[in-house]
Amino acid sequence: MSDLNDWQERFDRRVMRSIGMPLAKLDHGHGARVWDDAGNEYLDFLAGIAVNSLGHAHPVFVEAVSRQAARLAHVSNYFTSEPALELAERVVRLAGAGEHGRAWFGNSGAEANEAAFKLARLNNSGGARTRVLSLVDAFHGRTMGSLALTGKAHMREAFEPLPGGVEHIPATVEALEANLDDAVSALFVEPIQGEAGVVELPDGFLQAARELTRRHGALLIVDEIQTGAGRTGDWFAFQHAGITPDAITIAKGIAGGFPIGGLVTFGAASSLYSRGQHGSTFGGNPLATAVSNAVLEEIERAGLLENATLRGRQIRERVEALGSPLVSGTRGRGLLIGIGLAEPVAGRIVAEAMRGGLIVNAANDSTIRMAPPLIIDDADVELFAERFSRALDAVAAAL
Ligand SMILES: *Cc1c(COP(=O)(O)O)cnc(C)c1O
Repeated sequence: MSDLNDWQERFDRRVMRSIGMPLAKLDHGHGARVWDDAGNEYLDFLAGIAVNSLGHAHPVFVEAVSRQAARLAHVSNYFTSEPALELAERVVRLAGAGEHGRAWFGNSGAEANEAAFKLARLNNSGGARTRVLSLVDAFHGRTMGSLALTGKAHMREAFEPLPGGVEHIPATVEALEANLDDAVSALFVEPIQGEAGVVELPDGFLQAARELTRRHGALLIVDEIQTGAGRTGDWFAFQHAGITPDAITIAKGIAGGFPIGGLVTFGAASSLYSRGQHGSTFGGNPLATAVSNAVLEEIERAGLLENATLRGRQIRERVEALGSPLVSGTRGRGLLIGIGLAEPVAGRIVAEAMRGGLIVNAANDSTIRMAPPLIIDDADVELFAERFSRALDAVAAAL
């Protein structure tokens, strides 16, 4: 039996059947490249789903993990540490959360949205606010609360009953106008719906959402888990819209691959939580927060916001210039990119790209999603164009 089949068999026998068979068994990485344990090299244009901001094995990441692990890794929420304080100050500053800004840390995106869901429940005006709004096709995570916010029926159905009061509305200004009233505690939005296939909000949506939530006393909570940490060319995607939310949730790219998530509140929303109402044993530990500080500092130092904007534009231009009949258009901002397909062949393109040494993702049948590390350079874009073009041609030829 070959090694390849061996890992697949082991996976099939012992790993919980909550996800499908992995595409490869990876062994190590460097920059925007990863290698499987058969020695095949891949250009990684998914980066662990928008997580490995600095790519793989970046010296800043390695140094931060090693240094902090050798000093103090975990203390529980009975204590704090310099890295935790510094990260709270840093994310409040980067989000522009102002003098009232506050941060809470957990360990994942779903946990960040749980904290935000509980924040929404605290905005209850003495029990009068029973409704929470989120968007059709939204993805906010897989825990019970974050799943209740998620607008994908096929993910929710098997797990009902979920926490109540959540309604999913279409991403239109008309739906906002029709649904916002004084019984709404919060509206949750992703500034770009990543899991739905890199779907952008209509023009003016965030501005209308801001105005209507303010008018009705509801919180505007922006899920920046996939779009944050510089991925769209600004620190957070809501900043492109020139609005101020009441809270944002963060995770994925903020520590470059170390597990962490968080909630950042603005203004009056910062006083909703009171002592004893939320916590996490691992949350805000010195190790995770030290790594996040180092990664965010490196993004700033190396000008990776500008690089995200520049490389994102280059990639989209290159894809459009290929003139493939399979490509119907490109979407997204910075280095969160969706490629619309004229045929439902995303799975075949992903498989063909893997065979040719390129990792991209099928967000759905007719969308390729890419979220490469923010560090990619000219040579990476060049290699991507070559390998992606070959994959498109192979799939087109077989149609
Ligand atoms: C990935 C993601 C989540 C969930 O994060 P996990 O760390 O997987 O729990 C929530 N919201 C958005 C927008 C995401 O992309």
